[in-house]
Amino acid sequence: MRVVMPAVFFGHGSPMNALQSNRYTQSWRRFGRSIARPEAILAISAHWYLPGSAVTAGRYPETIHDFGGFPPELYSVTYPAPGSPELARRVQELLRPLEVRSDERRGLDHGTWSVLAHLFPDADIPVVQLSIDSTMSPEFHYETGRRLQPLREEGVLVLGSGNLVHNLAAYAWDNIAEPPFDWAARFEHKARKLIIEGRGRELVDYRDMGEDARLSVPTPEHFLPLLYILALQREDEPLSFPVEGIEGGSLSMLSVSVGR
Ligand code: ZN
Repeated sequence: MRVVMPAVFFGHGSPMNALQSNRYTQSWRRFGRSIARPEAILAISAHWYLPGSAVTAGRYPETIHDFGGFPPELYSVTYPAPGSPELARRVQELLRPLEVRSDERRGLDHGTWSVLAHLFPDADIPVVQLSIDSTMSPEFHYETGRRLQPLREEGVLVLGSGNLVHNLAAYAWDNIAEPPFDWAARFEHKARKLIIEGRGRELVDYRDMGEDARLSVPTPEHFLPLLYILALQREDEPLSFPVEGIEGGSLSMLSVSVGR
């Protein structure tokens, strides 16, 4: 019998994590080694956020360097994992009647590869990305996540990549060790408490959670991947936080793993 794969949300932080060895990336590595080897990976990243739903369907997705102002060595990082048109079709099938466009050209963005470079450094597991439809509600994203449930029994690791608290305007660029701002710490604590209590679904209403939430989630794209992962938790399933920490005062690196 196949094992049921966990589903996991990673706070990806700076793209430089792809090249660095720090406490976050070391935890990502440990996590990759601690789980059954997936047959394929479905990634939902903050950095593929656009109107409409799409899935990468090429055999050889390229490594997209979708950022500016970083050192040249970051632009030469590649993550040459194969794609999986088969998994792309399976995702389309599970989400029907929602129209999910096949995108044979789109590669993997840094939200996906900066984490995977540590999780599975050999880049030999097929990876597919599902876009986040920017026109839809948090509720829609949660429900879409639910419909991906069967993948967990099919050897697929569903990976969300964003940041629970992501406020770059407030970020202490000159001091990543800046202690968490009060609002960031409070919102992270509140979200975490809801998740631990099995009330993660309530985070769908994060926009009604006051000023702390407004400052912590000024734009939805880094937050929404978390909703997909919370939606994949089954009843009475264990949950853990394999990585913790807030960087630069306003960037939560918290990871949430369900089913492990
Ligand atoms: Zn990001």
